[in-house]
Amino acid sequence: MKPTLSTLALWACFATALCSAALPPPEYQKLAHDIYKQLIEINTSFSTGATTPAAEAVAALLRSEGFPASDIQVLGAAAHKMNVVVRYHGGGQRKPLLLLAHLDVVEAKPSDWSLDPFKLTEKDGFFYGRGTIDDKAQAAIWLANLIRYKREGFRPDRDLIVALTADEEGGGPYNGAAWLVKNHRDLIDAEFALNEGGWGDMLNGKPSANNLQVSEKYVATYRFEVKNKGGHSSLPVPDNAIYRLAEALIRISKYKFPAQTNEVTKAYLEQMAKVSPESTAGLMRAAAQGSAKAIEQLADSSTALNATLRTTCVATMLDGGHAMNALPQTAGATVNCRVLPGAKPEEVLATLKRIVADAQVSITPSGEIVSGPASPLRSDLMKAASRITDTMWSGVPVVPVMVMGATDGLYLRNAGIPTYGIQGLFVEVNDFRAHGRDERLGIQQFYEGEAFLYELVKALATP
Ligand SMILES: [Zn+2]
Repeated sequence: MKPTLSTLALWACFATALCSAALPPPEYQKLAHDIYKQLIEINTSFSTGATTPAAEAVAALLRSEGFPASDIQVLGAAAHKMNVVVRYHGGGQRKPLLLLAHLDVVEAKPSDWSLDPFKLTEKDGFFYGRGTIDDKAQAAIWLANLIRYKREGFRPDRDLIVALTADEEGGGPYNGAAWLVKNHRDLIDAEFALNEGGWGDMLNGKPSANNLQVSEKYVATYRFEVKNKGGHSSLPVPDNAIYRLAEALIRISKYKFPAQTNEVTKAYLEQMAKVSPESTAGLMRAAAQGSAKAIEQLADSSTALNATLRTTCVATMLDGGHAMNALPQTAGATVNCRVLPGAKPEEVLATLKRIVADAQVSITPSGEIVSGPASPLRSDLMKAASRITDTMWSGVPVVPVMVMGATDGLYLRNAGIPTYGIQGLFVEVNDFRAHGRDERLGIQQFYEGEAFLYELVKALATP
């Protein structure tokens, strides 16, 4: 039989890409795949890599797609730490929408991995490589979708800006989001931004919640230190720097910051109550309505809920002493806190001092503490995300979340650009490999995320 055009198209579809009504057309799956591969195969880690080759590759691709050179900027804090920003012009009826992702990745030692971290490998239904989840999938998808809008002649009612940035993971002076906010606000100024940080949760291959990250806990790290005159270890005295520090740390380990809810965690509990077993669902509803008892009970019921409902502080590093036969003159520890947005760093410090209750244990912040506000819940975003999620993954709720880690959303929120983490990329909750060994993302999930973000951005840029 002579193949017709449509059977050929179908065959090409099976041979080269996944096909489904919910997935992007094969040519755009291929486009996203090729950009993803190119980005993964450029080492952009903090110390052994650079973001500039990736930023330049993106700029070259955009120019080849006919984006005017004047709408593409490659710039940044250092020659090897460039960001790339591209603007796709819309009707200008509303302020722009910023689509953010970071180009850099956490270090990956090839000897620790079972495959080459800087090569995109397809195996057993997954894409493997450093950055497959964090954050090169979203970077590739923003680009593929922007190119698709342009090829399709889609005219948004507002400018769409894609910013792919340096050193989200490394932070410090090269952080692209912070640098752009400070030095080129005009290039990225937007009504609001979409970013990483809102993964979809999957349980045994089945999507259970599409997370929308609205706020983040912020990080506050403290140095605990005890000084002592020391002496010979053959003549011990009761006042010992190591023991004193140890007692302070034990007190911190036993202390629980009060459990509480905010606008975001309330909405989270309401949504999660809909998909949780009745025993937990009842507690979640009561907590969302403000029952202090239910909030405490929930916080005590799991590590994740504890971290969601409380500020937490934990000892992470220790040092002390200078010789095996000398009484210690110094003992020190690092205590790392994850603070609920809204709580002030001074309050956390005051609490630590009160709990330790020992003037000889000095407690001082290590490094700069950047706290930030939550983004207000936006009904347009919630509605669009919920509608598209329900079409693609029937019955899966969009759940507003506060995350425990920190992303570049912090810098944007502090600059008055509300930022929301949403990706439509579903990952097994018990096998999340971002920052870890053999990082991977499901192939199907990658293309579904591409389709989801295509529709979401379109909905947010159409009157
Ligand atoms: Zn990330």
